[in-house]
Amino acid sequence: MRVVLVGPPGAGKGTQAQFIASNLSIPKISTGDIFRANVSGGTELGKLAKEYMDRGDLVPDEVTVAMVRDRLGEPDAQEGFLLDGFPRNVPQAQILNKMLAEFGTSLDAVLELVVDDEEVVRRLAGRRTCRSCGKVWHVVFDPSSTEGVCDACGGELFQRDDDREDTIRHRLEVYQEQTSPLISFYAEEGILQGVDATGPVEEITQRAMAELRRFAD
Ligand code: ADP
Ligand code: AMP
Repeated sequence: MRVVLVGPPGAGKGTQAQFIASNLSIPKISTGDIFRANVSGGTELGKLAKEYMDRGDLVPDEVTVAMVRDRLGEPDAQEGFLLDGFPRNVPQAQILNKMLAEFGTSLDAVLELVVDDEEVVRRLAGRRTCRSCGKVWHVVFDPSSTEGVCDACGGELFQRDDDREDTIRHRLEVYQEQTSPLISFYAEEGILQGVDATGPVEEITQRAMAELRRFAD
């Protein structure tokens, strides 16, 4: 399947993407993760992306789209993929449609993870990410057993630079202004499905999987 996850920062896209992608045996492609890997690797792309990411702004479309085009061309993405964090505005969505049409395919489903702003702020303020394996934790909702250490791989947990309160607020504005128009864009295409993204992580995964099974039929 070819699936997109949308939702505000902190909705749980990365958390859900790892389980959904593993259930469907497709790669999870997170543009945020790819940008962060480039920032830590000190690449030219990372240097360019960092100033936008630190402000909570979107990285320019031409840079982001070129990166996604390369990634979607890789062998593991030919039978399906789960996009997390892309597209982030209507122009990116239009380019994605064109890109897939060139490959002779199209998206099967877009899941919108629905949570309110207060919950998003609670989730982002306590988010911790593993420097080694990228697994996402939360200091209250999903703490690792030893503070600052990833239970999955023993790596160091860190707080993202863009998870500061002022940047969180700006990212929510960017979501409202630039990303939320995707909801009606994909609703018009008939492939949008909202998913209640509150409650235990496993229950949300089950809700998402149930919706995706409907699209696969
Ligand atoms: P996104 O990728 O949409 O920005 P993440 O998956 O990184 O969001 O989740 C943001 C934070 O919320 C993380 O700290 C994660 O552990 C936590 N989280 C994710 N899902 C839930 C949930 N269902 N209930 C409580 N906290 C959650
Ligand atoms: P995320 O990990 O999805 O929260 O993304 C972190 C940051 O990476 C965002 O605030 C943007 O600066 C940048 N980013 C991720 N995906 C995109 C995208 N599709 N378009 C532009 N910028 C992006």
